[in-house]
Formats: sequence, C-alpha cells, structure tokens
Amino acid sequence: MALGFLGKWFGGKRGDSPALDEVRAELDRLAAESPAFAAPLKWLRELLPELVPDAAGVSCPPLDPAQARDKLTSGVPLLRGEEVAVDPKMFRRRWRRACAALEALQPDAATKVLDDALKSGRLDPAALVEAVVAGRPEDVRLRAEELQLDPGLTMTLLRYTLFPSFTALAARLAPLREGTAWERGYCPTCGSWPLLGEFRGLDQSRFLRCGLCADGWEVPRLWCPYCGGRGHEQYSFFHVEGEELKWRAAVCDACRGYTKMVATLSALPPEALLVADAATLHLDLAAAGRGYTNAPT
Ligand SMILES: [Zn+2]
Ligand SMILES: [Zn+2]
Repeated sequence: MALGFLGKWFGGKRGDSPALDEVRAELDRLAAESPAFAAPLKWLRELLPELVPDAAGVSCPPLDPAQARDKLTSGVPLLRGEEVAVDPKMFRRRWRRACAALEALQPDAATKVLDDALKSGRLDPAALVEAVVAGRPEDVRLRAEELQLDPGLTMTLLRYTLFPSFTALAARLAPLREGTAWERGYCPTCGSWPLLGEFRGLDQSRFLRCGLCADGWEVPRLWCPYCGGRGHEQYSFFHVEGEELKWRAAVCDACRGYTKMVATLSALPPEALLVADAATLHLDLAAAGRGYTNAPT
C-alpha cells in the first residue's frame, strides 16, 4: 500500500492536510486494491465530507475547571455522569443518511434492518448516547444482538452518526483537560476505548486516540489499555509483512486485547483517524484471527 495522501497526514506538520478530493481518491484506490474491504472504504468515502466537527444540536455540559480536575484525577471521563443531549432529529438524519450510503454500496438486508431499527423506535437515540457516555458500549452491542443487527456494523454506524457531535464536544472541553495527567485506557473526555494509537514524532511517544471524540492521551509504550498490564512478557506487537513501519497491532496476552498503532509525526486530525481505521481493516482481521479483541466487556 503506497502512502499517497497518508504521507501528508502521517508525515506532515499540523495543518498540512490533504484536500478532501485527494483523500477520497485514495480511499477509492484502497477499495480497488482490497476488494474484501471495498464496501467499508467506499462507505467512509461517501460520508467523509459530513464527518467534520459540528457543535449544532448537541449540548455541552457546564463543567468548571475544578470539577473537571476532580473527575480526571479520579479516573472519571469528563462526560461521564453528565447530560449529553444530542438532538434526536439530527441523530436520525445522520443515521439514515449513513444507512442510505451503505445500502447504495451493499444492498443487503443487514443495512435495511439497521435503518428500520431506528425508524421503528426499537433503537432509541437517547439510549444509545447514554450507553456510550456511561462507558457501556456493550449495552449497544447487546441491544443490536437482541434486534438481530450486526453488532460491529451497528457500532461503526453509531460512531459515524455521533462523530461530528462528539469531536465538537471534545474541542470545547479540551481546555479543561490541559495540565491534568490521564493514565487510563479509556478516553478522558467520553470514556470510549481507543480506536487506534499513534507512535508520534521522532521519539515515537505513544498516544491513544478515541474513535468517537478524537481526543488523544499519552500512555507508556508497553502498556495494555484494557487491563493495565505492562512489559515485554505480556505486551507485544505484530504486523502484516511489509507494513512494520506503518501499521502494527499492539497485543496483550493477559487479556487478549489489541490496539492498532500507526506511525505519525504529529497528532492525526479527527477525520484522519477514521481513514486510518478503514485503511487497516486487514489488521483487525489478522488480530481477530489470532484471538484478540478491541471490544472488551
Ligand atoms: Zn472520546
Ligand atoms: Zn491486557
């Protein structure tokens, strides 16, 4: 896989982002190269222009600096226990738009039932947001299973639906995070597990990145975000042949958790996280094949 647009994001300075057209052309190229992942890559290609931070239709909890510091020093994400109200009309519009885009690419029953589940009220936007903010993504998966929806697809659809709102919230709350250390595996802002991690800069410091709000936090290199285990004996890396300089999976043999890691010079912008995730679906497959999961319960 050539670096192409990724070279700009992954090796570039902040602000040196590729144009949207370039990114979309690259996603097309990746889809042509990897037919097995063509649908998810093209799905993201379609939605990418809409996945930018959007503060309209979501309420930001009125946290003050002292409250924020208390929460963070106790290991509580900023949004945990706060009321995060996402406008249900906007939620429905984004969900349905994402379903329609996927259905156009992959006209099968799995997409239609996702659309129907929301339309019929069997999936409730407020309950989905509440489960995420409460740190219970497994509730979303269980509900999806009850409704005979694909749990992985449901989680990705939920991420695409909420990403504009949660990235906007994280940007608003960023000043409250400054100066307080965070040594947990889950996101300090929204509490989600990391979508991937970065080995950032020349010293290759390790940062985890949230796939819902795009927040990032520094962690030790040989440390498992899921169980807190550390050291070479239980924590290691694997890669697909020829990709060791770009993509790796960090795996824990104690809890069987894994995190995809990418090499970057600086923090990836929010939308680049989604692109990096879609470009490394083969690594998820390889990790699953070895018995690792990134959805701990
Ligand atoms: Zn987050
Ligand atoms: Zn672990």
